[in-house]
Amino acid sequence: MSRHATPFLKAALSALYYSGAGGIAAPFTRGDGVIFMLHRVTPEPVRPFEPNRILKVTPEFLDAVLSQVIEAGYDLLSLDDVPDRIAAGKAERPFACFTLDDGYRDNSEHAFPVFKRYAAPFTVYVPADYMDGRGDLWWLMLERVIDQSSTVTVDMDGAERTFLTDTVSAKDHAYREIYWWLRTISEFEARAVVARLAAGFGLDGDALCAEMMMNWDEVRALAADPLVTIGAHTCRHMSLAKLDADTARHEISASVARVEQELGRPCRHFSYPYGCRNSAGIREFEMVRELGLHTAVTTRKGQIDSHVHEDRLTELPRLSLNGDYQDPRYVKVMMSGMPFRLWNALGRMTGTVEAR
Ligand SMILES: [Zn+2]
Repeated sequence: MSRHATPFLKAALSALYYSGAGGIAAPFTRGDGVIFMLHRVTPEPVRPFEPNRILKVTPEFLDAVLSQVIEAGYDLLSLDDVPDRIAAGKAERPFACFTLDDGYRDNSEHAFPVFKRYAAPFTVYVPADYMDGRGDLWWLMLERVIDQSSTVTVDMDGAERTFLTDTVSAKDHAYREIYWWLRTISEFEARAVVARLAAGFGLDGDALCAEMMMNWDEVRALAADPLVTIGAHTCRHMSLAKLDADTARHEISASVARVEQELGRPCRHFSYPYGCRNSAGIREFEMVRELGLHTAVTTRKGQIDSHVHEDRLTELPRLSLNGDYQDPRYVKVMMSGMPFRLWNALGRMTGTVEAR
């Protein structure tokens, strides 16, 4: 999605909500279920410069979403029950699953009590290196560098560029430019660029990881509750499609093995880092299937249709609970499935959406 799409999408979601179209169409468009995607759940206020605010929602918002989902008649399912539910075809009631990526510490501090209150099962996908305290959280590190600086200089494709970072809007601009450029280059180069910037400001990557992420003891403590499933999310949180086949396969299998070893139980579920079309495609879906995992989730938007996803359990779409859309009205419209149907119909007409 375009980086400038937020105001447009909010207006479109509001229009659908107030027109009532989402509600009227819901029985026909909502599909058989939905898998929600979250990252951070925290009461911490949003700072003026915080581009990664989209990754955090408040416990109150999560609470409102859970109560809305239950009120709308959804069954709350554990991911372990999803393959059978999809295989059974259309059920009387739709289902909802909750998933959280990356293993942020606030998942156990702030998300868990909310899920517990509703007896709602949920899955946390952990990158093995993060739980070892060796994670490379480059998107948060870049935010910290820009936050602390008044100018930032980066060698971008052989040309040195200096960004002013002395005001919030200049910082936002610099972050967008550098972030989206990093997403186009190799994972290894991108991380080296951010590591160099961080070193210049005396910032320590391992310290940031230990501050933000759970360690294995905390993951085990969380997993002791029967509501919790732990899934794998690679070792180093790299875009798999950018890696050669052997490295990509190893990232997946080693992370699954690590979760199994640390938790002493099978790991059946996987989430593709970044999860977009450029990060996970047919090759990765097949790898995950061959490794015997039961489900895998992308960040592609949409709901679950049994007849579509019965044979595509390793490429499941999700619905993001994004920090910029913390309004239960938006969630209601997205659950109706209307935005995705409209989006796909528009894409087919304009040839911008693949028919799959
Ligand atoms: Zn992730």
